Amino acid sequence: MSDTTGRAPDYRAMLAIAVEEAPARSLAEGGIPIGAALFARDGTVLGRGHNRRVQEGDPSVHGETDAFRKAGRQRSYRDTVMVTTLSPCWYCSGLVRQFGIGTVVMGESVNFHGGHDWLREHGVEVVDLADPGCISMLGDWIAAHPHVWHEDIGEDDDGCGGH
Ligand SMILES: [Zn+2]
Repeated sequence: MSDTTGRAPDYRAMLAIAVEEAPARSLAEGGIPIGAALFARDGTVLGRGHNRRVQEGDPSVHGETDAFRKAGRQRSYRDTVMVTTLSPCWYCSGLVRQFGIGTVVMGESVNFHGGHDWLREHGVEVVDLADPGCISMLGDWIAAHPHVWHEDIGEDDDGCGGH
């Protein structure tokens, strides 16, 4: 199922854990449905989290940063895998490079194209699972909450139904 060597982790199973964070937690709390989890290479969950901008009024709590903080201190990040339901924004891409996280697995990059090309250019293994469930989960949510979404991705929103 995975696309690399025989010992590659089961990325889809890992994505399922990030997805569980997104709708089951974030969405239930009225927040943005983006979830993430940081794994060891063997598939052990180190930390999991979800976007809590709305719930906590804190724009710095993205799925990835939440999962990263929950994982606590790790000796090395090279063998960790950041799994996120959506292409990581610049802020989270910066986190990946700052700490040397070796692999990023994303559920989709259709609703948002973040920094994953840049990560790839700098030697991070990037896997885009193009998961239809992730695409529709966030796509439907954006259609219903365009203003919150534009605030989340740091774009000015004139507010009048552009999209
Ligand atoms: Zn982010």
